[in-house]
Amino acid sequence: MQFTLDTSNPMAPSASDASGSSSVMPTILLIEDNMADAKIVEILLEETENINCRIDHQMTLGQGLEALDGDVEYAAVLLDMNLPDSRGFETLTRVLEKFPDDNVILLTGTKDREIGFKAVELGAQDYLVKGEFDSDELAKSLRFSIERKKVINRLAQMQRLAQTGNWEFRPGDKYFFASPEALRIVGLTSGGKNLFEELENPNSPFHAIYDWYACQTNEACAFDKEIGFELNGEKRFILIEGSCSDDQGRMCCQGIIQDITDRRVGEELRKAHELSQRSAKMKEQFVASISHEMRTPMNAILGMSNILIQMDLEKEQHGLVSSIKQSSEILLGVVNDILEISTLQNGKIVFENTTFDIKELIDNLFDVMQYKLEEKDLLFERTIPENLPSLLIGDKLRLNQVLYNLVGNSIKFTDKGAVGLHLEVFETTSTDINLKFSVSDTGIGIPEDKVDTVFGSFTRVRTKDRIFEGTGLGLSIAKNIVQQLGGEIGATSVLGEGSVFTFTMRFGIGSAETAAAPPTERSYEIDANRPIRLLLAEDHKMNQLVARKTIERAYPNIELTIVDNGQLAVEALQANIYDMVLMDIQMPIMDGYEAAVYVREHVTGPMNTVPILAMTAHAHISKDKQYLQYGMQDFVLKPFDPKQLFSKIAQYAQA
Ligand code: ADP
Repeated sequence: MQFTLDTSNPMAPSASDASGSSSVMPTILLIEDNMADAKIVEILLEETENINCRIDHQMTLGQGLEALDGDVEYAAVLLDMNLPDSRGFETLTRVLEKFPDDNVILLTGTKDREIGFKAVELGAQDYLVKGEFDSDELAKSLRFSIERKKVINRLAQMQRLAQTGNWEFRPGDKYFFASPEALRIVGLTSGGKNLFEELENPNSPFHAIYDWYACQTNEACAFDKEIGFELNGEKRFILIEGSCSDDQGRMCCQGIIQDITDRRVGEELRKAHELSQRSAKMKEQFVASISHEMRTPMNAILGMSNILIQMDLEKEQHGLVSSIKQSSEILLGVVNDILEISTLQNGKIVFENTTFDIKELIDNLFDVMQYKLEEKDLLFERTIPENLPSLLIGDKLRLNQVLYNLVGNSIKFTDKGAVGLHLEVFETTSTDINLKFSVSDTGIGIPEDKVDTVFGSFTRVRTKDRIFEGTGLGLSIAKNIVQQLGGEIGATSVLGEGSVFTFTMRFGIGSAETAAAPPTERSYEIDANRPIRLLLAEDHKMNQLVARKTIERAYPNIELTIVDNGQLAVEALQANIYDMVLMDIQMPIMDGYEAAVYVREHVTGPMNTVPILAMTAHAHISKDKQYLQYGMQDFVLKPFDPKQLFSKIAQYAQA
């Protein structure tokens, strides 16, 4: 039998519900098999003006538990201890085991206060002695329950927000409690008031509390532990903190459990990011220093082959020297490519946006490639759409680099037939144009399953009968450039018939206004009649020799002083007059940058402003132009091209 009683006065404002919202009237669950006792509760509640609530009456514990399991949230449970299906404290513990957060007010039929106290100790919120309590007492107890429920709900809400639950462990009573959020954190959906079995379970994250308590000698000490567990296949991190205290002779441990998965995953991501950044930096430094270390001796090799080749050599000797020179140039290309790919992969490239003439760029490319095309007797076909604007805005050097790699490959892998460069206007607006470039050839082709792999670093397709020179970096560089400029690159190929490499690149549409006067790449000539006093600071003996031989052979009028380090360069500038200084950067005692700064800050007289040019094997100098911030005017990259070196000497020494 069951009845529902609405004790509210329809005219009175409705009371707050258990969760604190004011629209729903609180509902009390009354589990009482004695109809007379139930009626008394009903009458007492009708009498009082202190509370407005509904009563849901159930006659047995089974029905009561079913009701608690339902959708209604009860503000309190008025529970008779002796029911047809359960008697004594068991009635209370069965309710609390299943619904630990519910406020249970025990209705005892005896005056024995001990029972009431014990019930509260077991987790009941209060007790009322049947026949003794009046309407005010009942209202007070229910009001307290309603408020307590609100506090509990708010606490649960805060725990959910903070992803922090709380627990309590009383070793003497074999009692363990965990709040709903604590249970959620470890993946338990519901539990009873006493989760002691969970604490004993070695597979449960809560077991750490048990372990800690069992191991410790000083029972009043605090603990905190971070725990390593998997939930539904996902790695979770939790932090359990707690401390024990003596509660009237009973040891009681309490603490919190916190879900720190997000924090830990964030930390791990940050660490992984830092590590990858550190290793990328180390790789970059490694590549830069390897490049420097290789370029320095190559300056000597290339420089000496340049000098040798100009000497009066027999034909065979000439051939040998030119082979040394060619091989060194290939090696230099490899070093440059490795440095380039490392910079590109680090995303450190700053792309330029200048106005250039696209047709002129293609003409120049053809001029550079012409020698190779003629050597192999290949046709060069090109298609340039009529509506292609002649002036574009973009990174001319990078476009050139991509085209140079693709066309260079096509020539390399083609023995007869033709190599083509075809341009298509892919998309255009009034300000932008997206161009599609196709580089085709009638060469050896690439097996179908390898076509996509050729864009990877150091990837080369093996050919049975021939070995082609190369590093496997050209296409990787091209892909990096195209993609960083927002374009796409791909290839199609038929083995034995040829390949087509295609990429897209977006440009601004240029005009005479956007085209600044192009920097004149003038070549300067040395006035052979004018004596030039040149100071070279260089610690590498072979490179000293190469510089001396190269300069003195071509221009005997140049008076060359060579010193071994920056400090000696400073002393020379304090004692003598020079027209210009060529300064190596990496030198012992005082490096080139320090020396340049010292000259600009401390050397007085005309040498304070003498032109100083960095002469270095650090290839990045051409991009970062670091020399400028040390008061240097320009740079010469080692291995140096004699013509460029003379042009720079003429430009600065004779200025
Ligand atoms: P490299 O040419 O220095 O080996 P690339 O990265 O430019 O390096 O090319 C990688 C590989 O792709 C080449 O070794 C070659 O096997 C293949 N490949 C590239 N272009 C062509 C082409 N036009 N025809 C046939 N194979 C090519």
